Amino acid sequence: MQELNRDRIPFPPISEAIKRHFSLGDLSLRRFGILGEDREVNFNQPLRPYLEVEILECCTCDGNDIAPNRDFFWSLELGTRIECLLAIATIPGRSEFTIPLRCLNPECKQSIEIDFSMEEFSNLQAESKSDTGTEIEIGNQRFSIRKPTGFDQLYWLKQSFPDEKSAVQTMLQTLLTEEQKATFDPAALAGENWVQMFDRAMEDIDPLVNFKVGVNCPYCGKQDSHSIDLGEFSLQRLQNAQKYLLETIHRLASRYHWNEREISELPAWRRDYYLAIIDREENR
Ligand SMILES: [Zn+2]
Repeated sequence: MQELNRDRIPFPPISEAIKRHFSLGDLSLRRFGILGEDREVNFNQPLRPYLEVEILECCTCDGNDIAPNRDFFWSLELGTRIECLLAIATIPGRSEFTIPLRCLNPECKQSIEIDFSMEEFSNLQAESKSDTGTEIEIGNQRFSIRKPTGFDQLYWLKQSFPDEKSAVQTMLQTLLTEEQKATFDPAALAGENWVQMFDRAMEDIDPLVNFKVGVNCPYCGKQDSHSIDLGEFSLQRLQNAQKYLLETIHRLASRYHWNEREISELPAWRRDYYLAIIDREENR
């Protein structure tokens, strides 16, 4: 477990209510791509929320090395899920990382790299956590909406919608407080350009879910607001970590003729050690 302690960080803050509900102690997140079970995660599944929850489940445990019930991960707010994914994806050398972007000016389109630190994202998430929800006004009605969770997302995935507006209306209704659900009048939404207002409110409420950053292009000088899909960015890094694990298994199997299970049960430091020996021999 020595190795895991080096590659483990505390789970981001979660509400006391959730802790009580799932009888959780202190949780931690570990680096992905070092244990045998990490080779089983299928990155090609069609619905991203399932993949994201599977990774969280794989990389979260309590002091007794036990992962919480899967429902715990679905009950997390989407912003917390993204914070967890980013944290797992940046565990080695997490202090600073770079996100590649492309200038939005069609005359320029140069690639730009923006430096971030996990601390910035955790602070952003912590600031937004102090509000449990937000208020929006549509057609003289004020609505209080809360932050969406994984369970909300599952519910929305199971519905089918004739158009975007009815999809957004269902999202709005799901996120209303119980009292407001009872008095909700869909007629109030007719004729209002409220979809954009709702989208803006959702961006404010959950800054990591719809992350935007202002960037000055160093090549053409144009300033633009870039949307960054932090979940997608994390998943790419995690998939690369899995590919590295699979390539390691392949190299060691080719050389030592151990099977996949035997190799994946080795601690990562020993796999790396054998790889270094193979490298030395190949470069001799
Ligand atoms: Zn540019």
